[in-house]
Amino acid sequence: MLIIFLVVLGTSIWVYIDARNIGVKKGQLKGVADMGPIGWLAVCLGLWIVGFPYYLLVRSQYKKLNPPRPAIQPLAVGSHVATDANSSPLPPVSLAPDFDDQLRKLAKLKEEGIVTEKEFIQEKKRILGLKQSAIRAPEVVPCAKCGERLRLNEVERHEWRYECPFCKEWSNIS
Ligand SMILES: [Zn+2]
Repeated sequence: MLIIFLVVLGTSIWVYIDARNIGVKKGQLKGVADMGPIGWLAVCLGLWIVGFPYYLLVRSQYKKLNPPRPAIQPLAVGSHVATDANSSPLPPVSLAPDFDDQLRKLAKLKEEGIVTEKEFIQEKKRILGLKQSAIRAPEVVPCAKCGERLRLNEVERHEWRYECPFCKEWSNIS
């Protein structure tokens, strides 16, 4: 009896967390499934034998209604180039010219004597540092092979390739 209780409790809490992660909200589905995470939690706790299977059934509909967050969506759909600029906080390539432009302006300021040699070196280092970090791969990407969300380390971000810990495949980030 205790085990059944724990299973019901555990899976109900999972439903609640999962529904929140997906972004389930009231008003997204018609009929009985028109519930938010709290509603699903209540239904699973109250009438688990119906509520839990029903949640699993409508889960994919919820997922379609609530696409993953933009930061990982571009790679997931395989067309990151077009949408990158809107969705990623640091588009890797398109920011680079800005930094070059900043460096050029800075050099001009030094020529004109507005910034000192010391300030120039400091500022140049800062801009180059920003440029360096901007051309790294995103911190979190979906695996190109299995789709699992991966958190990349510095080396992987720098080299734009990673070994997926889930499917053990090497992939290049394009
Ligand atoms: Zn993988």
